[in-house]
Formats: sequence, C-alpha cells, structure tokens
Amino acid sequence: MPLDLSDNIQYLKGVGPTVAKKLERIGLLKIGDLLYYFPRSYEDRRELKLLSSAREGERATFRFTVVEHTTFFYRGKTHPKLKVRDESGFAYLYCFNRNFITNILKIGTSFFLTGVYTRKYRVPSFSQFDYELDGDKVDLGIVPIYRLTAGLNQKMLRRLVESVLETHISAVEEDIPEFIKKGYGIDTKGELIREIHFPKDQGSLRRAKEHYSYEEFFKYQIVCALTKNHHQGAKKQRIPLNGELKEVFFKSLPFSLTAAQERVLGEIERDLQLEQPMNRLIQGDVGSGKTVVSLAAALDVVERGGQVAFMAPTEILAKQHFYTIQNYFVSLGSKRPVNVEFISGSVKGLTRKQIVLELLKGNIDIACGTHALFSEDVDFSNLSLVIIDEQQKFGVLQRGALRAKGKDPDCIVMSATPIPRTLSMTLYGDLDISVIDEMPKGREAVETHIVKQAEIKKVYQTVKEQIGEGRQVYFIYPLIEEGQTNDVKNAVDAYERLKKEVFGDLRIGLLHGRMSDSRKDDVMKMFRDQEYDILVATTVVEVGLHVPNATVMVIEQAERFGLSSIHQLRGRIGRGGQHSYCFLVPDRTTGREAWSRLRILKDTHDGFKIAEYDLKLRGPGEIIGKRQSGVPQFIIGDLDINSKLIYRAQKDARKFVEGEIGTKQERENYLKQFMESEMYRNAMLYFGG
Ligand code: ADP
Ligand code: MG
Repeated sequence: MPLDLSDNIQYLKGVGPTVAKKLERIGLLKIGDLLYYFPRSYEDRRELKLLSSAREGERATFRFTVVEHTTFFYRGKTHPKLKVRDESGFAYLYCFNRNFITNILKIGTSFFLTGVYTRKYRVPSFSQFDYELDGDKVDLGIVPIYRLTAGLNQKMLRRLVESVLETHISAVEEDIPEFIKKGYGIDTKGELIREIHFPKDQGSLRRAKEHYSYEEFFKYQIVCALTKNHHQGAKKQRIPLNGELKEVFFKSLPFSLTAAQERVLGEIERDLQLEQPMNRLIQGDVGSGKTVVSLAAALDVVERGGQVAFMAPTEILAKQHFYTIQNYFVSLGSKRPVNVEFISGSVKGLTRKQIVLELLKGNIDIACGTHALFSEDVDFSNLSLVIIDEQQKFGVLQRGALRAKGKDPDCIVMSATPIPRTLSMTLYGDLDISVIDEMPKGREAVETHIVKQAEIKKVYQTVKEQIGEGRQVYFIYPLIEEGQTNDVKNAVDAYERLKKEVFGDLRIGLLHGRMSDSRKDDVMKMFRDQEYDILVATTVVEVGLHVPNATVMVIEQAERFGLSSIHQLRGRIGRGGQHSYCFLVPDRTTGREAWSRLRILKDTHDGFKIAEYDLKLRGPGEIIGKRQSGVPQFIIGDLDINSKLIYRAQKDARKFVEGEIGTKQERENYLKQFMESEMYRNAMLYFGG
C-alpha cells in the first residue's frame, strides 16, 4: 500500500525505528513533516573552484580525484590522510577521526568537496570539509543545509526529502484560494516546497519563499479576520463611566501620569464606552507605566460592576502582578473594596474550588493569573475586561479563548516588546494599537558597557562594590535548551563557578526554566526579599520581574541574545531610581559584526529604535519570539525579505472574508475547506466551539 504523508516516518524507505528516533528529535514524526523541514541555509556548489585559484581560509566547492591513501598521527592516534588532485594541482585531506572515509573515497574515485582551503601545513590542505560522491543530483547545485542532531547527516536528510518529494509532491494540498494564487502567478504548493529545498537559482528560491510566506500569512490573516468578525457587532452593556474609583486610585499614587499615559488611558476609556468590544494593544518600554494605565481601566470596569481577568504568561509574573495590584488597591481604602484573587495551575483543591465559586458569584472583581484563567472549571459571572500582559507570548488564538469566557469582553493586551509599527500592524491584525512612548520623569538610563572576557574581573569588582552598598545583581545566561551543545555555558555551571571561585562570601540564587514553578517562586521571593545578593538566571527574568534594589546586570554570551531581549532584560535594573549598570560580556569567539551590533545598546535606550535594528539585522523572530503561537514559523524567519507581499496577504484575506474579492462560491468553498484545516480546528478548540 502506498504511504501517506500522515504515516509514521519510520516506514519510509531507509529509515526504520533507529533513524526514526533521531528524526523525532528534530521534530520529524510523520512523512509529511519532511516536506516542511526547511533548510536552515544553503550552499552554492554550482561554481567549482580550482586549487590554483583558492585563497587561504576560503570556503568553496572543488572537484577532486583521490590519488593516494596515507595517514597522519595526532593525539596518540593515526587518522587517514588523503592526497587528491584537480586539474590545477594537489591537496591533502586531513581526516580527523574519519577512519571509514577510505572505504568511500577509494583511490581513483572522483568526488565533490566543500570546505575551507588552507596552506597552514605548507601544502594546500583541508581538514574541515563535506564531500559528495560524483553524480548525485541532490548534492549539487544549490544544496540545502538542514538543522541536524547526532546520528543524522546532510546527505541522509537530503535524500529523504528528495524521495518524499518524488513520490508525494502531488499529494500536497493547496490551502489558499485558486483565484488568488493565479493573480500572483504562484506555483502549486508542492512546487514551492520543492523549490525551497532544492532551488534552481537564488532568484527562484527567493520567489518561492516569498510566495510560500504569502500563503502562510494569508491563512493566518484569515483567522484574524474571522476572529475580528466573530467579535464585531457584539453588543455590550452600555453603562457610562463614572471614574470615581480611578480618581481615588490616582490620588493614592505618589506620582501623576505622564502625558503618554493620559493619552493612552483616554483611548482605552473611549473604547470602553463603544458598543464594539475593545481589542487594544498597549505598547511601551519596560517601566513606561502600562500596568498602571491598565489598572485604571480595570477600576472603571469594576466600578460599573464588571469583572476583570488579568493574565500573565508565567506563574512568577502573574504572582507579582497579583501582589502589585493588591498593594495598589489597599490604599483605595473603604471607598469600594476591590477583591483581587490569584489563579494558576498551582492553585488547587479546596482553595481553587472556593475561588472558582466566588468568581461565579461575582464576588471577585479582579482575577489575576496565568492561562489557568481560561481552564474549563473557571467561569465568571460578568467578565467585562481581559488584560493580558507580555502579550507576545500569546497568539490570536489564545486571546480569542479568553474572550470567549465572557460575553465579548473588552480586551487590552500589553507588550513591553516595542514592535515596529509596521510589523505589529501585520501580526496583530485584529488589534488597535496604543503606544506609551514616554518614560516617567527622573528615570535614568542604564549605563551599558561591552566588556571583553579578559576584563571580567573589573565587572566582578563593580558587582562587589554595589553589593557592598546593599544593592543586588543579576547574572544572565542564554537559555538552557534541550540538546544544545555544551558550548552554551549554562546558568547552572555559572552558578557553581561564581559560588566557588568568585563570590564565595555572597548569597547567590539560581533561577532557570527547568525548575518547578514553586521552586522558581521561592527563589524569586528570596531575591526580592534580599535574601540573595546575586541571582543567576536564564532569560526567565526577561518578563517582568520587579526588584527595585537591583542595580547591576551582567549578561554573559551577550552575542547570543537579540538586542530587544537585552533591552528588556536591562529594564529589570535601575527600577528603584539608583544609577545602574549593564555589562554585556560576549564570548571570546564573538566576531566583529556581533560586537558592533551590541554597541547599539550602549548608545540607544529607545526600545522602538532598538527593535527596528533587530528587525533589520536579525529578522522579526528575534523580536516576537520564534514560537509565537499562531504565526507560521517560516514567515517569522523570512518576513524581512518579503514584507510587501505580506501586507498584501493581510489585505487580501480581509477583503476575501468580507466579500470584496472572489465570488460567493469561492468564498463558501474555501471557508468550508479552511474550517476543516488544523489551524482552524485549533482556533475553534480555544473558542470552545
Ligand atoms: P510597565 O508595566 O510599563 O512596565 P509599570 O506600570 O509597572 O510599567 O510601572 C513601572 C514603575 O513605574 C512602577 O513602579 C510604577 O509605579 C511607576 N510609574 C508608573 N507610572 C509612573 C509615572 N507616571 N511617574 C512615575 N512613576 C510611574
Ligand atoms: Mg510590566
């Protein structure tokens, strides 16, 4: 029986259970997954280099014939050394630990070699190289380079992808309307996929990527358009705003709002009084005062008898918001007690039952928590406003799910990641946008330095001084990710080292994503309560930890972070008004380009500008997070090359849903098919039907 794209990958010829396990590690489970496993880069092997014209350090492709097998000695072992030639001369291949190679590259065999040419050993030679035997088409031309894991190699993957394309290309279904594809002259989806794996030339690759992205984005925008429509026309209760509670709140604050905060609150309050549910994104740098604004809006809603759900992406952050909100509202006095409760996955048993009951009775005004706020057992009596913090971690689908808990409640999402306006308009097609583009007065910019590894002692000195003055310090490391190579100096190692070798007398805490939520919570609490001087952490702290006493942040392997991430991270310090320092410490091996990229952070403190740089330099994935739910992965990586077409996708999708383009028949057929798609099914799962 012929295999299906949805069949287990292990049934594919040349795979079997062992290889299947390895493929699973890179996310390939079904045969069809191979088609969508796009290359991380390409190697252009079309132009062959001659040895006589190769330059020191140059990476290029050659065509060689094996002349002689010898060996060389290194670290107590013999390794194969091959003499090869092309029409212009000879070279040697130093094959470290590749003992099997002589069985493949036999004397007289001709083959293609791609590698770094060097004359380091006086003769032309190669020690880092890939090779392909003559005659295999998939290994020539512009060759795909895939992300791999141990036990897999490029050749294998290339052949697997090629064979699936061979047998199944016609089984790839179209998923955007025919008439739209025709209008742009877009190839069949199967052909696009083939071209992305095995491009004919750079131009056609680029076009295939653009077209593919257009399709992905069109579908995404269809979901946005449907959600938007789904919520339009929904009637809300019209109760005019009074604003007394909010005024009491403002009087209790030791500051007055900035002009930007006033403006944004005005925009929100206007929305609150419209019939259509509000869907608004508030963007603003860390500390620009988004939370305060959203809480003022929350009080408006509470005052007129509505309930508010305040959601954050992590337990830690949600807890912290919960405390903040409680603190703020304690000072409201007896004017109108505001009941705030906390819900997350860790709130269980009787406590949970009680909270759920009180919510349902309407006795809780503000429920603060994680996505547990939209678990099945949680219901509100009158959910009127949903506030989502750090919204880039949620997609349009989750927003829809939360809204479905109420009768089309108003919705505010807050993001501290300043997304360039052009990008946010496309990605958050279902939202209106407000920007807080002004920091409260008296905020000092974080003094930022880029420090060589060799000079890390100076950093340690500053750390000690600051701690001596009673301040606290963060050390930040790149994320611990499963299967990462050991060159990632992870937070755990650093923690041990700093403790043993550098700051023996100080109190050091450790925080990373693999710890249990309750353990994380404990550590955060201890740092906040100044039971630790230093917190060693991964980017877990990026989202919103508020410890005003912290004045120093050391970011190791800074070259691995996006600029926006670093900017957010450093927003964690200097929150108490003291002068503060951020030290970016790139790895020893960091190239000049990465260094100059980091320099932008030294001179720029405007999150939007920094985001623009990130967008230009590294693409949108850096800014919005690679795993943003609902946004197709491929687009995120390549949006920079094709943003024009992507805007068209948004317009086209909206027009199509609203009936401005395409026939009624086309629309009905398409939406029917679309509603059977995985993307739509997932969306509806969230919406609850
Ligand atoms: P964001 O949510 O944008 O990170 P917050 O609303 O949490 O910002 O505010 C950050 C800090 O600044 C809080 O301690 C808050 O009390 C304070 N703050 C907010 N608005 C102002 C203002 N207009 N003037 C001075 N301090 C402010
Ligand atoms: Mg915040």
